[in-house]
Amino acid sequence: MPNTPRYDSGLMWFRRDLRVDDNAALYHALRQCRKVWCAFVFDTAILEPLRQRGLLADRRVDFIHESLVDLDELLRALGRAHGTEGVGLIVRHAAAAEAIPRLAAELGVQAVFANHDDDPYALQRDARVLGTLAHQGAVLHTYKDHVIFERREVLTANGRPFTVFTPYKNAWLRQLTPFHLKAYQVERYGAALAPVPAPVAQPLPTLAALGFAPTNLRQLPMRTGTRGARAMWEDFVGRIERYHLARDYPGVKGPSYLSAHLRFGTISIRTVAAAAHALHAQGQAGGSAWLNELIWRDFYHQILANFPHVVGHAFKPEYDRIRWERGRHAEELWAAWCEGRTGYPLVDAAMRQLNQTGYMHNRLRMVVASFLTKDLGLDWRRGEQYFAEHLLDFDLAANNGGWQWAASSGCDAQPYFRIFNPVAQSRKFDPQGKFIRRYVPELAALDDEAIHAPWQCSAGVLAAAGVQLGQTYPTPIVDHTEARQRTLQRYAVVKAAGHDGHPG
Ligand code: FAD
Repeated sequence: MPNTPRYDSGLMWFRRDLRVDDNAALYHALRQCRKVWCAFVFDTAILEPLRQRGLLADRRVDFIHESLVDLDELLRALGRAHGTEGVGLIVRHAAAAEAIPRLAAELGVQAVFANHDDDPYALQRDARVLGTLAHQGAVLHTYKDHVIFERREVLTANGRPFTVFTPYKNAWLRQLTPFHLKAYQVERYGAALAPVPAPVAQPLPTLAALGFAPTNLRQLPMRTGTRGARAMWEDFVGRIERYHLARDYPGVKGPSYLSAHLRFGTISIRTVAAAAHALHAQGQAGGSAWLNELIWRDFYHQILANFPHVVGHAFKPEYDRIRWERGRHAEELWAAWCEGRTGYPLVDAAMRQLNQTGYMHNRLRMVVASFLTKDLGLDWRRGEQYFAEHLLDFDLAANNGGWQWAASSGCDAQPYFRIFNPVAQSRKFDPQGKFIRRYVPELAALDDEAIHAPWQCSAGVLAAAGVQLGQTYPTPIVDHTEARQRTLQRYAVVKAAGHDGHPG
């Protein structure tokens, strides 16, 4: 089909979509403009607060930095494939809300293109950019790219957003057509990519220039950029058949480990959802189970978009009446949780995995979130914030959804009286203590039975394994049975408000 551009020139603004292939906004930019430049801004509005909190070795900044090198190379290659040299990514380190309109003016473009981001900060930033561009006589076009269905696309028969997962999932599956999974053929329109004018071009700032320190990202199995994402995806495709069997066991390679790539858009959600949906349609249990997780991802994104009060507040307001533990003892419990020294081996292994790698297995996210809120009686918002600062795959919608699920305050949450027993979870999901041994090596010599609850072992067993409770490994900071009773009392305010905590 012949293509008639609407604009002489446009600017593609990359954010959480760091790839060339199947990128909705890039596709539309290339089709609607005769000439297109591409930009990414290291947004000081996001980075400065991290620096001020002393989080200088941030794996996300490192991940983005590495992925931009890849993105720049892929843009250059696409330009070259269409006979244009000098194409590339323009990178700035500034407040994005100001830098993008400034760059648009410098380049003299009529339109800026970007993909939707429904985080409250991003919505505010985009509204400012839209306003400033309008003053300059330019427009901002934005597109759905990050999810399969967004905002108010999947609604109940009464036209309301879903707040319970299973009916949402059924509606999601009913509404899905091949159109929703179709890839945008960006490569066909690469001829519109324009060389970066010399006065605008600047080298990619180093991590140090951004004010950040290197991290251990390169020592981890995590690979960056589109190419890294592809390699990890291919690895997962070879194991997806067993996903439903292996996904709950942190000691085995069960999940995809693609969350950071889905977060930063180094892989397209349509690519992976199309493959999972095809396996689901063939009746493959692994593919169906994995598709289910991708639908959870969409579910939480539409919750955030339709119920933005979940940021900072319980989805169910009566849960904001809960009085969480405070004071010196609470701070000691908090520090022990953060540092992985609660005396519960699976909880400690999980927190150390997070601190050392920036990743935590899904089962363990549920276990440590339950432990923080229901064993330690600490506010879920504190845990949410800690995850937000340490997870490489941190995603406001999924993180908030996960925390509110565990704290029972969420839309389709765990009932408050269902409280994970950290030892039972350990025996069930890490039966040979393989995962615990990896992250809590001081317990490695205990046998498969003893490793889940060292305080229940005889002095002889502990001595033989070289474990001195209270010295080489902590005694439990709380008694689970007592904590459970305290939690039931704490959550009684919810019942008093006339709700039983069961999801709607
Ligand atoms: P896989 O099992 O391979 O799942 C595939 C993809 O589906 C994931 O990459 C992710 O994009 C999506 N997904 C899976 N489970 C969920 C879920 N429950 N909710 C939403 N999306 C899901 N996920 C994040 O991406 N970012 C977060 O900040 C985040 N915080 C969480 C906090 C808590 C307390 C809990 C309980 C869960 C959280 N999750 C979060 C969801 C889930 O734990 C991770 O997506 C998953 O562990 C990532 O590993 P994976 O890519 O190997 O997952």
